[in-house]
Amino acid sequence: MRYYAKPLKNLIAELSKLPGIGGKTAQRLAFHILSMNEHDAQALAESITTAKREMKFCSVCGNLTDEDPCSICSDQSRDHSLICVVESSRDVFAMERIREFNGVYHVLNGAISPMDGIGPEDINLRSLILRLQSDDVRELILATNPNIEGEATAMYIAKLVKPAGIKVTRIAHGIPVGGDLEYADEVTLSKALEGRREL
Ligand SMILES: [Zn+2]
Repeated sequence: MRYYAKPLKNLIAELSKLPGIGGKTAQRLAFHILSMNEHDAQALAESITTAKREMKFCSVCGNLTDEDPCSICSDQSRDHSLICVVESSRDVFAMERIREFNGVYHVLNGAISPMDGIGPEDINLRSLILRLQSDDVRELILATNPNIEGEATAMYIAKLVKPAGIKVTRIAHGIPVGGDLEYADEVTLSKALEGRREL
């Protein structure tokens, strides 16, 4: 990189911070950006700063949104007594893709991971408890990822919530252990939702 001028070097350095982008790909992208016309390059830069400025977490469910509450929380045609708990907004998009779930969500924005020093107080859990106390919730579907962190998180929430008499279920079939909800195909995810079991 020592042959590159500073602005190009900076661009490559920033791009290589993105997930899945190694040094070579960052260089290719940087050269591509430089070959773009002024308008397109500006639009790319602006879409990043605008998304970063305008997207926020929904104060009800924790989902990424540009309006608060988010469009799902404010949709009265959805079943607000059925809450699906997921780890990230990406999982909400995955669930919405299958078009079978008509409840609402709660996005934890993380998972409990003692190995990484992430405890229950570090994820968006307090607002879930508040929701359960104030809303009429009949079922909580735990759709955290089927890996160690996701399972630990599901178990923790189940233990916390069950004494309140709320039905707690866990998505089951289809999602491979160690897998990621986000990458599950629609049929698998749909089956997992269908085959949820009570905890
Ligand atoms: Zn919301």
